[in-house]
Amino acid sequence: MECIFCRIVAGEIPADIVFQDNEIVAFRDIHPQAPTHILVIPKTHIASLNDLTPRHTNLIGRVILVASELARKENIADSGYRLSISCGADGGQVVPHLHLHLIGGRKLDDRLG
Ligand code: AMP
Ligand code: ZN
Repeated sequence: MECIFCRIVAGEIPADIVFQDNEIVAFRDIHPQAPTHILVIPKTHIASLNDLTPRHTNLIGRVILVASELARKENIADSGYRLSISCGADGGQVVPHLHLHLIGGRKLDDRLG
């Protein structure tokens, strides 16, 4: 298996997992950009936003819901946070397994890119 996030899902690479269920895993980013920096991923390999189809609608909705629940758990729901998904080279995507960044715990940059 080549994909690093699939290997985390399979338990082949250690990660600081903060949530998991049958279709989603969330773990702390290895290079955190803020006090809270968690990646929320579908367990199934979806390379990027470009690979989404209507059958993923419920799954992607749940990825966002899990992130919002984790924000509450991390005590950043009231202070605020950002969810972001990078896609492709211009979007700055490095790992080709769709992942949602949950970033917060400090005032974030105003810029979107
Ligand atoms: P992106 O640039 O959106 O593809 O983000 C990839 C993110 O994955 C970066 O923030 C990396 O720090 C993070 N990352 C890469 N490898 C690991 C790993 N083994 N465990 C946790 N986070 C990782
Ligand atoms: Zn993968």
